[in-house]
Amino acid sequence: MTPCAAATCTRELRDNELAAHQTLCTPCVDTIRTWLLELPTQIIVLEGSRQRETTGSRTGGRTVHRTAPLPGRADTLNLLGPAAWCDGVRDPYGDSTDDQHGALPIAGVLIPWVRLITEERRWNPPLVLTPQALAEWLAAPRPLAWASRQPWGGDMRDELHQLMRTVRDVTNVRPRRRAITQPCPRCDSLTLVETDHQLYIDCTHPDCQSIFTRAELAFAASIHPEALKANAA
Ligand SMILES: [Zn+2]
Ligand SMILES: [Zn+2]
Repeated sequence: MTPCAAATCTRELRDNELAAHQTLCTPCVDTIRTWLLELPTQIIVLEGSRQRETTGSRTGGRTVHRTAPLPGRADTLNLLGPAAWCDGVRDPYGDSTDDQHGALPIAGVLIPWVRLITEERRWNPPLVLTPQALAEWLAAPRPLAWASRQPWGGDMRDELHQLMRTVRDVTNVRPRRRAITQPCPRCDSLTLVETDHQLYIDCTHPDCQSIFTRAELAFAASIHPEALKANAA
């Protein structure tokens, strides 16, 4: 049994994932892609709040009551801050350096991973180093598939997870989650949740945390239709 390399994932790698030399399970890879595709939307929200912060306090000739600084203002500026390509030297086997001095720029989190991959694979980096371009580059099939086979794949997943939590905390924009009225095929509790843009449905029961495709859930419902009916009543 080989566990997925991500510290925040409890799945064992399946035979087909091991055969592909993955260190990350396929759901983790899909989750990373979903995060990277969510980032441009989050950046629009961050830029909107930066705009509000920097365009004075008068609108339409009326003086707007100046309230206390918006929470997370410093974090907004940090997250949108620039990061240099050459600062992004990563030691994939070193300890992660979680500093407590506010959020790292999004670009500063993405560049070391993009740089590591471009250098090892001799692939061209994105033409510009905006967070949007970096996220798009990293979400492309080849870089992401290659990263999912590296010993540091789990570190990358965990670091991006932390980034998304920070970004979502600042913007207050989260993918919508909806409860599903079907018992979890594994633990039988009513704890299944589907999330916008995500391929998998999660069981949120702390002892279970299974994930299912829609096809798997449809199959489970077809062999236990009475469970569904009881639930709908
Ligand atoms: Zn995983
Ligand atoms: Zn469950």
